[in-house]
Amino acid sequence: MQGQSDNNSLRRQRQRRTLADAFLKMLPADAVIFREEELVPYECDGLSAYRQVPLIVLLPYDTGQVQAILRYCHANKIPVVARGAGTGLSGGALPHEDGVLLSLARLNKILEVDQSNMRARVQPGVRNLAISDAARSQGLYYAPDPSSQIACSIGGNVAENAGGVHCLKYGLTVNNLLEVTLITIEGEQITLGASESSTS
Ligand SMILES: Cc1cc2nc3c(=O)[nH]c(=O)nc-3n(C[C@H](O)[C@H](O)[C@H](O)COP(=O)(O)OP(=O)(O)OC[C@H]3O[C@@H](n4cnc5c(N)ncnc54)[C@H](O)[C@@H]3O)c2cc1C
Repeated sequence: MQGQSDNNSLRRQRQRRTLADAFLKMLPADAVIFREEELVPYECDGLSAYRQVPLIVLLPYDTGQVQAILRYCHANKIPVVARGAGTGLSGGALPHEDGVLLSLARLNKILEVDQSNMRARVQPGVRNLAISDAARSQGLYYAPDPSSQIACSIGGNVAENAGGVHCLKYGLTVNNLLEVTLITIEGEQITLGASESSTS
């Protein structure tokens, strides 16, 4: 039994090293986390009864890097789990044992607050509360307010269709979205929905 677990651990270390070498060729060094002690913080989301250290964690800086990661993983049949802030209570960001945990935390820019059309364009890693604050500074109001809003990301809100008490009056995340640009598991960028300006 001991021999079998040593073999598994060795196999995993080799797999991790191979993946790290591949990703270090396409990403900056600080975007590739592969040392066991640095992987442990990512072993669970808010559903902490379930834990799994991922094979590797990637923290891309831009959409091009996200696409490169997904294309590589798709071509090499490597499972990928996306992670926002890791506050989810349903285990959605629980890593896959043999997979990549893809953190979108560094895509955290508010690209535009368009006051006259009452909408904002944001990257997926922006915190919910940061959107509310940016809207408020322009005299606007972003209603979806999960209790985790100080930490949770808009990407996680969209994936979970999150809401809070204000959603009883103003609707859930889905009712406050016009358009989502996403990267498919094959690495293709697509846009769902339409902002008003692109339909006019
Ligand atoms: C104290 C506390 C209070 C909470 N209160 C509420 C509440 O009032 N209402 C509520 O609805 N929820 C609540 N939640 C749950 C949680 O905060 C929400 O589900 C939130 O939307 C998760 O966002 P996150 O960024 O942490 O996502 P994560 O936990 O990181 O991920 C959640 C899911 O989204 C996916 N995902 C994340 N980012 C992306 C992305 N960019 N692209 C594709 N998929 C992605 C992940 O794969 C995963 O399946 C609470 C949680 C805590 C811990």
